[in-house]
Amino acid sequence: MKTCPLRTSVIGSYSFPSWLEFASSNLGSFGSKDLAEIQDDAVIAALHDQNLAGLDVVTDGEQTRLDFNLSFYGYLDGIELESASPRLFGPPAHDQRGKHQVVGEITAPRGLGVVEEYQRLVRLQKPFPDAPPVTLKASVPGPYTMSGRLLPNAQYEDRWALTEALLPFVRQELEGLVEAGCTEISVDEPSMSCYAYKEDSKRFVDIFNRTVESVVGRTRLCTHLCFGNFKGHAVGYRRIAPMFPEFLDFKCDEMHVEMASREFSEIELISKIAERMDVAVGIVDVKSYFIETPEDIANRVRLCLEHAPADRLVFAPDCGLSQTARWAAKKKLVNMVEGVKLVKQELNIES
Ligand SMILES: [Zn+2]
Repeated sequence: MKTCPLRTSVIGSYSFPSWLEFASSNLGSFGSKDLAEIQDDAVIAALHDQNLAGLDVVTDGEQTRLDFNLSFYGYLDGIELESASPRLFGPPAHDQRGKHQVVGEITAPRGLGVVEEYQRLVRLQKPFPDAPPVTLKASVPGPYTMSGRLLPNAQYEDRWALTEALLPFVRQELEGLVEAGCTEISVDEPSMSCYAYKEDSKRFVDIFNRTVESVVGRTRLCTHLCFGNFKGHAVGYRRIAPMFPEFLDFKCDEMHVEMASREFSEIELISKIAERMDVAVGIVDVKSYFIETPEDIANRVRLCLEHAPADRLVFAPDCGLSQTARWAAKKKLVNMVEGVKLVKQELNIES
């Protein structure tokens, strides 16, 4: 699955426009047709910003995962929604998201909804005139990450058991995406990068590889590894060294790592990834409102080139942009693509 050198990409999510946030908290005020229109409009807005930036890879911005019922957990039978955040006051942090109870056998009779999202993306993507072709990417959380918001019980006694229960649903969704013609899929496992320092990382690799095994070679497979981003706050131990060497055995074509918010600490480790697969470097800090200039980005690209060859490098923000205000997300993407282009020109790489 070869791609162009110094490719520009994104992680799945994008900022919600203000009206979408308002609509999400007032869903009861809309009919089903209104809601379908809202979902289409939101994806059109996310695509507009990404196409304007001139990215090589775009997504639907995960704009339609509006609330519990429209997210993966809403597609699962056998779980009960956490009724309210367990902590309402104090600074924002991951503990405010709480966990869902498992009340029966976990099943996913309607899949996880990502195939429908991908079909909507295909229907709505309208490239700007004379724009080069872009790749449409779908993203699915991996089973370990998804299990993090479910509470173990007598039937599923720990997080590993919950992961095993979810794994077949993710695998089936990946197969559905490939059958729907999706040529690039990211299986996001940020919980694996967050906990690599203390959990059995070989076990993570086994879980990842079993999740993707039936689609390996049939699509470009990516993974996104980061240290969490809830309202701009990280949650993990922010070192990538504990992931190595085990994570190099992930069966994927592209591995994404968070770098910008960590001031490119451990950048030398991307060379290890580049020996095995493409490495997508988080080159834009999604948690900071400092807007990187194209020249800042170009300098970061040059730094990455000291550790990995151009044809192995992909650039993206550190994480999805859902926790970044849209005005900033827009500027950051424009400057990211602009900065990468500066280096492409220096190296005579066609855009
Ligand atoms: Zn992330």
